[in-house]
Amino acid sequence: MNVLITGYEVSPFFKRGGLGDVMGSLPKALKKINVDCRVVVPCYVEMQEKANGKRIGEFHVHFGDKEEEIGVYKSHLPDSDCVVYFLSNRPILSHINLRGRNKKIDQFAFFSLAVVRFIAWLNSNKQWEVDLVHCNDWHTALIPLIMKNKIKPPIPTLLTIHNLSYQGFGSRKVLDLLHFKNEETKELKREISAKEIDILGEGILHATKVSTVSPNYALEIMKEEHCHKEIYTYLRKREAVFGEKDKIIGILNGIDYDAWNPAKDELLFHKFDVNNWEVGKKAVKGNLLKFFSLKPKPTFCFIGRMAVQKGIEMLIKVTKTIVQLDANLIFLGSGDPNIEKSVKRIAQKYPDNVRAEVAYNEELSHKLYAASDFILIPSHFEPCGLIQMVAMRYGTIPIAAKTGGLKDSIVNEKDGFLFEKDKLTRLRRTIKHTLSVKKDNDRYKKMVQRAMRKDFSWDKSAVLYKKLYEEMI
Ligand code: ADP
Repeated sequence: MNVLITGYEVSPFFKRGGLGDVMGSLPKALKKINVDCRVVVPCYVEMQEKANGKRIGEFHVHFGDKEEEIGVYKSHLPDSDCVVYFLSNRPILSHINLRGRNKKIDQFAFFSLAVVRFIAWLNSNKQWEVDLVHCNDWHTALIPLIMKNKIKPPIPTLLTIHNLSYQGFGSRKVLDLLHFKNEETKELKREISAKEIDILGEGILHATKVSTVSPNYALEIMKEEHCHKEIYTYLRKREAVFGEKDKIIGILNGIDYDAWNPAKDELLFHKFDVNNWEVGKKAVKGNLLKFFSLKPKPTFCFIGRMAVQKGIEMLIKVTKTIVQLDANLIFLGSGDPNIEKSVKRIAQKYPDNVRAEVAYNEELSHKLYAASDFILIPSHFEPCGLIQMVAMRYGTIPIAAKTGGLKDSIVNEKDGFLFEKDKLTRLRRTIKHTLSVKKDNDRYKKMVQRAMRKDFSWDKSAVLYKKLYEEMI
């Protein structure tokens, strides 16, 4: 079975969030169970050196009134024979940070068209025959529609939703760039204004199957109160057309056990595993606190995108409590400039206990996962969340909102702590409670060991994806 996985990022070549981790690790797990799985992503200038791809050819795409050339580069995921293709086009695909929503939408419509043409190119060059395309998030969610209308017979498409709050919403003019005839797009004129397009919504309607990244998020998004308003109609519409048997399935993400392994992590001051974690974590923590000029104290951290979703404003409100409890708090993240500012301000207010590293810093993330005692995850919603899984593998106990994949991956009071989401007083109370558990040494040790022993590898979930692919072909 030949599966082409596509999305906007792939670790370690280019990563800004959890999707990058998934794109860089799920294919390797699928390969182990005999799915020939390859990846295709845009070739941004930032990743070219790291990817070190070999040019294997080129093809052309008719986009708007231009013929655009696409260069094809081939490389592999590190330590694997898993092929990654990079599609290169200077004017449109070389930069990810395009400003303006329509620019981004046009960019990924172009990439989606390029992926469909690329599949034909692979086939006609006798390189590889694709049986199924696995699209991820809005960036590649036009592929099912393009596939249905432009390829005969169409290849089945799976759309995995990693986050419903990013939908690719913008001008419907993008369909002209793709040369859709009116009758081909008439299905699009629905509840939203005819001038607008919701790309993720289109993907939900046109994909052969739709999945998301945790069983609990799959349930939550079918309830109106949990869902993101605009997309709810699409989910309902799909349910009405496809019925119960084709409902959205939730498969929990895994993490790459080679990339996230405290026993082999070269970035750590001291490596450790479940048998010697006390010595190891103490050494790493000592080293990191010294780097930050913080005193040896129980240490909480936050790692992630600084987006409203992540509930950082709640952390800012409980910082005083953490300081009063004589603990440290270290933030690592970047994103929304207003949230970044608030985080910097709170760090300035409590210089003895709080630090804020406002940046994307892979190396520091490893050190922080290993050195912290607790990681705070007060997300308002969380489709899956990988940070709790990585933290647990590094012996750091998660304190998380009871939502989405956090609920699926943490067992309250056993390997982490869950609190009622959006409830500040509950978060405050849970923080106090965790520190009292830490003082009860035996109980705390058992929690850390349980967390470290938990299996968040891709093995189980890769089997579920394979089964899903088999049903679709
Ligand atoms: P999301 O996909 O919503 O961003 P996840 O928890 O699924 O959240 O995944 C986040 C991934 O991105 C994790 O691998 C985390 O370590 C990484 N990450 C997020 N922000 C940063 C940062 N500022 N520096 C380094 N790594 C980061």
